[in-house]
Amino acid sequence: MTDQESFSTRLLAIQERIAAACAKAGRRPDDVQLLAVSKSHPPEAITEAVSHGLTIFGESKIQEARAKIPLCPSMARWHMIGHMQTNKIKYAVHLFEAVHSVDSLRVLEALAEAASAAGRDIQVFLEVNVSGESSKYGLAPDDVPALLERSTSIMSVSVVGLMTMPPFSEDPEKTRVYFATLRKWRDRWRAQTGIPLDQLSMGMSHDLDVAVEEGATWVRVGTALFGSR
Ligand SMILES: *Cc1c(COP(=O)(O)O)cnc(C)c1O
Repeated sequence: MTDQESFSTRLLAIQERIAAACAKAGRRPDDVQLLAVSKSHPPEAITEAVSHGLTIFGESKIQEARAKIPLCPSMARWHMIGHMQTNKIKYAVHLFEAVHSVDSLRVLEALAEAASAAGRDIQVFLEVNVSGESSKYGLAPDDVPALLERSTSIMSVSVVGLMTMPPFSEDPEKTRVYFATLRKWRDRWRAQTGIPLDQLSMGMSHDLDVAVEEGATWVRVGTALFGSR
């Protein structure tokens, strides 16, 4: 099997998993977007993915993205999915149209300032630490409503939704509760703040099925698409 064939086989398998999870949950597959997580893979891998119709890619390190993105097809669009240091945010606004990993007011404000200076608008997902594990990035749920209220007066960034990374478990069923909880909180915060929060970024290679069943509108898939890193 050539690489070409194996990429299309893997892509098809992911699309089938998304479709099956949507069928189970009574959702439309069009409502779920695939973010192809290309971190640690070379520009050639992105070029191949673009040739198979993928257009939106996720990177987790600004430094890697700065080096790689200029070498990739210009039609590729980019989302940041990793924790950001505020001193690198000035580069991020030129590279990414969305950031899934905003985990503090400090980061949100730095992003807004840089986006405004660059004359750009950035879509933002607030990353929520649903499990409460101290090893995880993400906002404590109690801090989210105030940050949402605050965000409405900050220009150049729009909070479009929420993201979470559940604790790893071999058994994807064990992560279902984290996805369901994020959706439940989203519904509550939407009612509280009036911010629609339509987007839910949740689910990766091994647990995208349960994430889609629980309402994910973005799945972030690396390994199942590009192979191991
Ligand atoms: C690496 C990464 C992914 C993709 O993980 P896979 O298991 O390779 O699909 C998704 N989200 C974030 C935040 C990541 O860092």
